[in-house]
Amino acid sequence: MNSNSFDLVVAGGGQAGLIAAIVAAEAGCSVCLLEGAPLEYRGGNTRHTRNLRPMHKGPLSVLSGTYDEEEYFDDLLRVTKGKTNEPLARMMLQRSQTSVQWLEQRGVQFQPPLGGTLHLGRTNAFFLGGGKQLVNALFRHAESLGVEVHYNAMVDKLDFDGDRFRAAWVGDLCFSGKTFVAAAGGFEANLDWLRESWGDVVDNFLIRGTPYNTGGLLKLMLEQNFQSVGTADQCHAVAIDGRAPKFDGGICTRVDCVSLGIVVNENAERFYDEGEDFWPKRYAIWGRLVAKQPNQVGHVIIDQKAIGKFMPPVFPPEKANTIEELAEKIGLDSKVLAKTVSDYNAAIGPGEFDHTELDGLATDGLAVNKTNWARSIATPPFYAYTLKPGITFTYLGVKIDAQGRVLTQNGQPSPNTFAAGEIMAGNVLGEGYLAGIGMTIGNVFGQIAGEEAARYALNR
Ligand SMILES: Cc1cc2nc3c(=O)[nH]c(=O)nc-3n(C[C@H](O)[C@H](O)[C@H](O)COP(=O)(O)OP(=O)(O)OC[C@H]3O[C@@H](n4cnc5c(N)ncnc54)[C@H](O)[C@@H]3O)c2cc1C
Repeated sequence: MNSNSFDLVVAGGGQAGLIAAIVAAEAGCSVCLLEGAPLEYRGGNTRHTRNLRPMHKGPLSVLSGTYDEEEYFDDLLRVTKGKTNEPLARMMLQRSQTSVQWLEQRGVQFQPPLGGTLHLGRTNAFFLGGGKQLVNALFRHAESLGVEVHYNAMVDKLDFDGDRFRAAWVGDLCFSGKTFVAAAGGFEANLDWLRESWGDVVDNFLIRGTPYNTGGLLKLMLEQNFQSVGTADQCHAVAIDGRAPKFDGGICTRVDCVSLGIVVNENAERFYDEGEDFWPKRYAIWGRLVAKQPNQVGHVIIDQKAIGKFMPPVFPPEKANTIEELAEKIGLDSKVLAKTVSDYNAAIGPGEFDHTELDGLATDGLAVNKTNWARSIATPPFYAYTLKPGITFTYLGVKIDAQGRVLTQNGQPSPNTFAAGEIMAGNVLGEGYLAGIGMTIGNVFGQIAGEEAARYALNR
């Protein structure tokens, strides 16, 4: 073996790659982790995260109550509309029970949800200091185990012998390995690839996370003839503040007051039920909804009653004392917006507003009704946030089996090539999203990939 030869080569330094590297190193493997980003930007989309969603029977760490397999699986079925691999998904839910403890044992700290974070205290465990703290703790732990980390190390070539991995290349540097874990995220930062499914509207998309997830490794894996899973147009996309930067704006640009108001397009017309379900189960459809509107723009309109009921984004809203004045500030036809708001107010039925439950306070008789939390927009001042689609991550990936091995076209697994995290998320998430499940996928499948790679490399 020369110095560039390892038991395990990992591509990608987000949580999935880090966890696979740590598990294999703890089992006694020599491990090399190739991270495409420079040190300052290491950690991919993981560094933007806030929480993960584990199954739990009874209180667990910072989590209250119980979130059992059936409730979790029901939630997953609802958001994916059944597009999930049930055995893989159920295995993931079962294994997620130890995810919080696994992270805590390796230096990651948790905290209860912050005030203003809706409906998540039972289901989502929040990282103290966010994903950045998690990334730093895991890099620290990986390095203490002797994992060799290379930054600015974008894997741009893979060598296989049939379906057996031999080496990953970064320019002229060759890293050969007995096993390989592909954990390089999706292709959400590759606008040309997104354009193939979405067309030129991608010019109005904002990418919420790392600019380094350009899908180069996914492309290499698909060219190697591994089976794909999911479709190129499926992604997690939320409505974010239109003033966010093109890349890496992160969580502070998300606009979380949709269910407290109404959303209109550039024609000042509503286009979807803002109160369909709790926000954590619905926020991830709003990016796609806004993407389908003229110029890919939406505007949330709220009144004073909503202030203090949601976590505000980093940019202040437009504010005005009348709806007409607000319309002018955000470039909408003031008469049309005033009519949209007054029609909405007039259509609200009887009931009590209660944002902690599906309160059934609804409109009746509108072309698009709001089915919960339909409070009037009548108390000045009025506020508006302008929205654009914020792409979080894509779902097209490689197909895996229960050992995390990537599958070839004839359905056989590669003996020594594994995938974890966003790059295989489509196995579980055919569409839709459940807040916190991205980190659960990376955690569980990162551990599985690390365990199975170690078993193979160490011949156990
Ligand atoms: C703003 C934001 C907030 C989010 N919040 C949450 C949350 O609270 N909870 C949750 O569950 N999920 C959240 N997600 C989703 C979550 O980030 C992902 O599901 C998860 O981090 C994926 O982990 P990963 O390791 O697969 O990918 P990443 O963390 O994205 O890591 C992939 C890594 O691969 C590297 N890379 C890319 N190409 C190559 C290559 N060719 N060679 C080598 N390296 C390469 C990149 O530099 C990157 O570091 C959020 C995402 C964003 C963008």
